[in-house]
Amino acid sequence: MDIFEWMKENGHEQVIFNFDKETGLRVIIAIHDSSLGQTFGGVRMVNYASMEEALRDALRLSRAMTYKCAAADEDKGGAKAVIWGDPKRDKSEALLRAFGRFVDILKGRFVTGADLNLTAADGSIMGKESRYVLAKPKEEGSSGSTGPITAFGIYVGLKACAKFLWGDENLRGKKIAIQGLGAVGEPLLGYLKDGGLEVMAADINEETLKRLQGQYGFKAVKPEDIYGVESDIFCPCAMGGVLNDQTIPRLKCKLVAGSANNQLADEERHGRMLHERGILYAPDYIINAGGVIQVIDEIQGYHPERVRLKTEKIYHRLLHIFEAAKREGLLPLEAANRYGESRIREIHKLRRLYVPT
Ligand code: NAD
Repeated sequence: MDIFEWMKENGHEQVIFNFDKETGLRVIIAIHDSSLGQTFGGVRMVNYASMEEALRDALRLSRAMTYKCAAADEDKGGAKAVIWGDPKRDKSEALLRAFGRFVDILKGRFVTGADLNLTAADGSIMGKESRYVLAKPKEEGSSGSTGPITAFGIYVGLKACAKFLWGDENLRGKKIAIQGLGAVGEPLLGYLKDGGLEVMAADINEETLKRLQGQYGFKAVKPEDIYGVESDIFCPCAMGGVLNDQTIPRLKCKLVAGSANNQLADEERHGRMLHERGILYAPDYIINAGGVIQVIDEIQGYHPERVRLKTEKIYHRLLHIFEAAKREGLLPLEAANRYGESRIREIHKLRRLYVPT
């Protein structure tokens, strides 16, 4: 395995292997691109089968963060940390604090927050060693759950999609099929109800489904049937990879727009399949950026109104991307990638101007 070749393939700047002999902490911090400034990305703890698997995950996710931050108009680069270990067996206060110290060594070049298999409470422990750990519990001055702001961004994004597709941003009377009623799906139900949409929803958790059905009065659908529901919009808010060879032929909608990360099992193939079926796809990392915007805002002191205003910009950003895709014969995801790349290139050029500090 030639790590430099892997880094070269996708333009990674720096990969740091950290090991703490006392706690056994093994963590890889991958910094993809810092052209826009300080890098940002979550830390996850996974019992990978091998170092190679851990490294691949860190490289893939850090690159995705570069695009997400750039396209959200944030002056942040992309990074990711992966702790290689079993979260049930290996997680301890000392291990989490050792991670915090490794983060602190980087002096703010890398800023992070708890991701998969780590909680806000774990973030609080890591944060004892470094001020570069965000998304801690609310009582510690952090911004709390990112579900509500992500849901707001999805709703704003749905309006932009409607404007592009149907010439009118008003969603009243549109039929929407939602997959997943969790941290994002639940608050989204409130926006959809207020907006007068006809909602059909599925969740594998029957208790959640019943509770929310009582509250919002939507039509419940079995999880396996949600793809084939007659609707205007399919809104995936559960897990990734849901747009694939099996599901795309079943869709009976004109638009796919939801919060799930990595919705397309294969970006090129399934993006094209949707396009050929006449279904508009709202690039996931553009429409679901509300959460990242909120966490990044903590760096300058969390200000909810500023976060809301920044998240509202998803409306014009999506319209811009759809129009560029139409004009240049691209898929929406390709147009989104170009948007992020061109921002990185342009802002990077500014660095030629020397500014004394
Ligand atoms: P969550 O775990 O709180 O909720 C997911 C919900 O989906 C749960 O209620 C679960 O029971 C349900 N679910 C799981 N599998 C399902 C299936 N096969 N069919 C129907 N329902 C199913 O997660 P979340 O925070 O709401 O995030 C949802 C998605 O959005 C994830 O892909 C996440 O990565 C992405 N996302 C979340 C945020 C955020 O701020 N929370 C931000 C950006 C992206």
